[in-house]
Amino acid sequence: MRFALALLATTLCAQTYDIVIANGRVMDPESGLDAIRNVGIRGRTIAAISASPLQGRTTIDARGLVVAPGFIDLHSHGQDDENYRYKARDGVTTALELEVGVSPVTPWYAERKGKSLINFGASSGHIPARMKVMHDQGTFLPHDEAAHRAATLTEQHETEDLIRKGLDEKALGIGLGIAYVPFATHPEILNVIRIAADRKVPVFVHIRSPGALEPGSVTESLQEMIADAAITGASIHVVHITSMANGQTGLMLEMMAGARKHGLDMTTEAYPYTAGETRLDSAIFDGNWQQQLGITFKDLQWVATGERLTAETYAKYRKDGGFVILHSIPEEAAREAMADPDVIVASDGMIFNGTGHPRGAGTYARVLGHYVRDEKALTLMNALRKMTIEPARRLEAMSPQMRLKGRIKVGADADVTVFDPARVIDKATFEKPNQYSEGIPFVLVNGVLVVRDGKLVEGVKPGVGVWSGP
Ligand SMILES: [Zn+2]
Repeated sequence: MRFALALLATTLCAQTYDIVIANGRVMDPESGLDAIRNVGIRGRTIAAISASPLQGRTTIDARGLVVAPGFIDLHSHGQDDENYRYKARDGVTTALELEVGVSPVTPWYAERKGKSLINFGASSGHIPARMKVMHDQGTFLPHDEAAHRAATLTEQHETEDLIRKGLDEKALGIGLGIAYVPFATHPEILNVIRIAADRKVPVFVHIRSPGALEPGSVTESLQEMIADAAITGASIHVVHITSMANGQTGLMLEMMAGARKHGLDMTTEAYPYTAGETRLDSAIFDGNWQQQLGITFKDLQWVATGERLTAETYAKYRKDGGFVILHSIPEEAAREAMADPDVIVASDGMIFNGTGHPRGAGTYARVLGHYVRDEKALTLMNALRKMTIEPARRLEAMSPQMRLKGRIKVGADADVTVFDPARVIDKATFEKPNQYSEGIPFVLVNGVLVVRDGKLVEGVKPGVGVWSGP
C-alpha cells in the first residue's frame, strides 16, 4: 500500500512537467554533461534532468538533436521585434546592447517589457550620454559635435552624471566606443572607467583605433585599456577583437591572456565573419582608414544597395549617411578567434528592414555549422561554452539573473536551444542578410517555445529584461 502510494505520488509529480524535451543529447558546458537525457520544465524553470523518461503536457522529441543552454549575445544592436525574430531562429535567447548602450535607461527597458520575444538588456552608454550633452545630431552614433571635438570639463562631468544615472537605473555596466569619439582624451576615458570600478560593473569597449599603423595602432589602443584596468581595477570587455586587430588578432589575444595572468579582469569577443559593419558617416572614416585597415573603396559595400564603393560613391554616401560593410578581416584572424576557447561569440548584429550584415541573423548557426562541423576549428562543447556559460559569467558578478542563464541544470531558467548538429547552418549572406538560420528546430525562452518545428511561434512574448543588481 505504501509502495503503491509512493508510486502514485511519483506518477502525479511526473505529470506536472509543462514541457519535456525527451531523449536529446544534453550538452552543458558548465558541468561538462554530454549525455542522452530528458529535461523537464515547469513554469519558467528547468525542474528535472533525468536518464529515465519524464512525462509532460507537451513533449518535444529531441532524438538525434543537441539540447543546449540558450545562446547569450553580449553585442546585439538590433533591439526590436524584427531582430529578435532573427536571433531566436539563430538560437539566441538573450540579446544585449552593451557596446553602444543606451541613455536614458528606464524608458528603454519599459518599451520592451512584456513585448519581447527573447530576453533583452543594455548598458549605460557613454556614446548616447555624450551625444545628448554635446547636442550631437547623429542617430545611434555620433555625427558632428560628439564626433569632431573634445568635450569641455563641464560636458565631461555632465556625461559622467548621465552614465551614473543609467547605472542607478540598473543598466548592465558601461558601454564605451572610443573610436566613435576620437577627440575624447585619455583622461576623459580613464574617468569613465573609474566609474565602472567604483560601481563594480564591467565596461564594454570598442577601443580607440584598429590596425597595425603606428602611432594609433590597435596595440596602442589595447594597451590603453590594459593600463586603465590596472589603474582602476575595472573589469574590461573588448568588443569585436578581429575587426580591430585584423592580422594582429593573435598578438591581441596574447596580450589579453598576459593581462589576465597578471590579475586583470579582461575578456573579448568576436563574430565568425571576415567583414565588419558601421556607419559611413561616423568618425571611423575621418582619418587614414585605408592605411589603418589595409582596405580601399572596393572593400566597402553599401548596405542599402549591396554595391561596392568607388571614390565617387564613397564621397556621396558619406554625405548622405548610412551603414557600410567593411571587408577587412583576414579569414585566418576570424578562424583564430573562433578556435580560441577564451574568446566569447557575439554578433554585433543589427538588421533594419531586412538589410544589414549577415551576422545579425547567422552568427551562432555559422559557428556551429561552418567552424565546428565543416572546418573543425573547435569542438562543439567549446563552441557552446563560448556562446553560453562564458557570456553568462562575464555578467553574473553584477547581475544575479545571469547566474541562472547559460546552463542546463535544475533550477536554471528554461532558456534552451535544440539544434541538429548535422544540419545547423547560417543562411544569411552579405547580399541577402534577411534569411533565418536552419537546423535549429526548437528554442525556449523562460519555459515558452518561441521556435517550434523550425518555425517562429506567433503571439508569444516571454522575454524579460536583464538588469544589474538584485
Ligand atoms: Zn563596435
